[in-house]
Amino acid sequence: MRLEALQEGSDLFIGHEARFFAAPASIETMANLALRHPDATLLAGGTDVGLWITKRLQDLGKIIWLGRVRGLDRIEETETTLTFGACVTHERALPVLASLDPDLGLLMRRFGSKQVRASGTVGGNIANGSPIGDLAPALIALGASVEMRKGGLTRTMPLENFFLAYGRQAREPGEVVTALHIPKLKAGMAFRAFKISKRFDEDISAVMGAFRFRVEGGTIAEARLAYGGMAGVPARAKATEQALEGVSLADTHAWAAALSHLEADFQPISDMRASAGYRAKVARAITGKALLEIAGGAAETRIHPREVAHAG
Ligand SMILES: Cc1cc2nc3c(=O)[nH]c(=O)nc-3n(C[C@H](O)[C@H](O)[C@H](O)COP(=O)(O)OP(=O)(O)OC[C@H]3O[C@@H](n4cnc5c(N)ncnc54)[C@H](O)[C@@H]3O)c2cc1C
Repeated sequence: MRLEALQEGSDLFIGHEARFFAAPASIETMANLALRHPDATLLAGGTDVGLWITKRLQDLGKIIWLGRVRGLDRIEETETTLTFGACVTHERALPVLASLDPDLGLLMRRFGSKQVRASGTVGGNIANGSPIGDLAPALIALGASVEMRKGGLTRTMPLENFFLAYGRQAREPGEVVTALHIPKLKAGMAFRAFKISKRFDEDISAVMGAFRFRVEGGTIAEARLAYGGMAGVPARAKATEQALEGVSLADTHAWAAALSHLEADFQPISDMRASAGYRAKVARAITGKALLEIAGGAAETRIHPREVAHAG
């Protein structure tokens, strides 16, 4: 009760202009503070930032903690759109995303660990700009947009435009990610997402693929294919998307041939997680698996049916 009594919703600022810990309570205070101190570290769940201290021994002079800002933890749902405030944790996002598509539930179930999901936020996962972050490909495939606030100005852009190059995002100094808007699937749309890593839990993707198809009369009318781990940023496979459009789902050979365009879309690298050759092969395989499932092929593609997999 005494701790609760301290939650009186006012802004907190400890320190001075050159070195401080701030926990603003409103979006306005947060935005003004971030604008005045573009060199401050924005801290959300701390699952990345914590490592800068424990591994790199960094001294963070100015910290703006976003976890107390009213409204950044909101989850809103309309008939067509889901909105997550930037500070919604993965744990809270999980069931909401699972209701959008079971594969999203399974993906989130494999995000880090219980502890990381309890603390890590959806905004932090996007803002860190990682080319192997799990949410970005899934949300890009769904056509999501990112909302940002700088001082008194709010702007929204397609999430795929947020990632400019390795380590570079379209976020200006002093700008804060405030929300993610995610369109729900419409009639005739099918979605699949696959995370490929060495372990089930607590492992970062070697490749992550997320796919949204709009199917009309058995033909692929639109394909959005987004991948993590294939380039310096999470990115769409535009050449492959184009090659798939107009292809009949029943024509296995035609769509399998279209997937060869992935070679034009991506030149992945080899690193400690996977070789370039493996990444290219697995990206093609998971895209084919998605199409095989959506086409209703008889082949077994999963150990558990996807509708129950995320619960297990
Ligand atoms: C053990 C472990 C396992 C992990 N497993 C996975 C995994 O499976 N998949 C995966 O994708 N990631 C994984 N991660 C990475 C990390 O947990 C996620 O990226 C997480 O979503 C980051 O969110 P956060 O709130 O903790 O961010 P923080 O650590 O608080 O911040 C991360 C970065 O984003 C900036 N930032 C945070 N919020 C905002 C905002 N609203 N506006 C602007 N900038 C902001 C910070 O300044 C910082 O640069 C893992 C990390 C650990 C330590």
